[in-house]
Amino acid sequence: MKRLVILGAGESGCGAAILGKKQGYEVFVSDMGEIKPTYKALLEQNGIEYESGGHTEEKILNATEVVKSPGIPLTAPLIKKITAQQTPIISEIEFAARYTNAKMICITGSNGKTTTTSLLFDILVRAGLNVGLAGNIGNSLALQVAQTERDYYVIELSSFQLDNMYDFKADIAILMNITPDHLDRYDFCFQNYVDAKFRITRNQTKKDAFIYWSEDPVINKELMKLCPKATLYPFGSQKDHNVAYIDGENFILEAPNAIALTMPAKDLSLRGKHNQLNSMAAGLAAQILHIKNEVIRESLMQFRGVDHRLQYVATVRGVRFINDSKATNVNSCWYALESMNTPTVLILGGKDKGNDYTEIDELVKQKCHTLVYMGLHNEKLHEHFDSMGLRVIDTDNIHDAVKKSYEAAHDGDTVLLSPCCASFDLFKSYEDRGEQFMKEVKML
Ligand code: ADP
Repeated sequence: MKRLVILGAGESGCGAAILGKKQGYEVFVSDMGEIKPTYKALLEQNGIEYESGGHTEEKILNATEVVKSPGIPLTAPLIKKITAQQTPIISEIEFAARYTNAKMICITGSNGKTTTTSLLFDILVRAGLNVGLAGNIGNSLALQVAQTERDYYVIELSSFQLDNMYDFKADIAILMNITPDHLDRYDFCFQNYVDAKFRITRNQTKKDAFIYWSEDPVINKELMKLCPKATLYPFGSQKDHNVAYIDGENFILEAPNAIALTMPAKDLSLRGKHNQLNSMAAGLAAQILHIKNEVIRESLMQFRGVDHRLQYVATVRGVRFINDSKATNVNSCWYALESMNTPTVLILGGKDKGNDYTEIDELVKQKCHTLVYMGLHNEKLHEHFDSMGLRVIDTDNIHDAVKKSYEAAHDGDTVLLSPCCASFDLFKSYEDRGEQFMKEVKML
């Protein structure tokens, strides 16, 4: 009997375990840390053997195949041992995709994945398709494949998931952008991260679609090198050779073989230039899937956005508060600042992932009058920004950050939480940071 060992008992690991069992594998799940009670219960209900708080090597190194959680780095000692003995290590998505014939629409990029994935899912649901949402969002693909029959999946893929994908093929692949992120997991080598992102085009043929942002210099350089076989669907802010673009006041989608859709850009429900790009990517995928323009238009006008992404919180005595806690890298903060049309107090800081802040220098100077640092280690922020001559406030907790931002703001200003950093120094997650921010604002 084939033995499937699953490392990491989170959403994806437990899903893979259940699917593996259903497919007749002998399954063993191992997690270095604690397993959440809900996942323990799920494994027990399904009669799956597991361990937590450490890895028993004899029960792991005898695997036929290993499914690795995207959270475990390739450099972990156990992973190195498994690699050295040439046991295949795959991702949960790779495993799950073997057992479904559904069309796979996959979205990756440094920023905009969740927004674009959620928007496209919204369009396909409105169109009445039998579609599942998977990847970094909601239930794992493996669990869904084990429990339901779907015709389509919209899947958000991080670079870590792509790292262990080999035979998987996306029918439609979307690459939003590539800017430095997670370099700590890629030997601080940007090209390694770029290579991981481009794995989304792996195995694609002419019949498949590759939708990408044509104004991204990193993507363009890679395209020249790799020449993917898929049919290309470039989008961007200008017409050029793009099949989705902005023309004056209009937002236009014109995938070949589809009827062109034109609508006023101001009618898009998601604000900001980055969200125009996200709307283009989702809209093109929908056109490729022959969704009617009226359905696409309705969704683009009504989609309410995803929490913690430029989310409006409240206006307190004339000061508008925006929660962009998901801005965990410098580029996403750039787009948040770019969309600000009032003087801004910017709250930033947290766990730095090797950030280079120069990218936002100009926008910080143009849009912000006060910077509020919020983190356990604000030294790098002081070093980079203090010399700009803006007002700087140092904090190490959310209560002070919100209170001091509010005190520094004037009637008509915006307080923007767009931290450029991960949240783990002070919070459980970016969601926790966003929730706590909104709670503090509501108590002002
Ligand atoms: P991801 O899932 O890739 O992290 P999200 O949709 O969750 O992307 O958005 C993350 C952050 O990036 C948010 O702060 C958002 O405002 C910003 N953002 C969204 N779309 C884009 C884009 N196309 N380009 C740059 N930044 C973006």
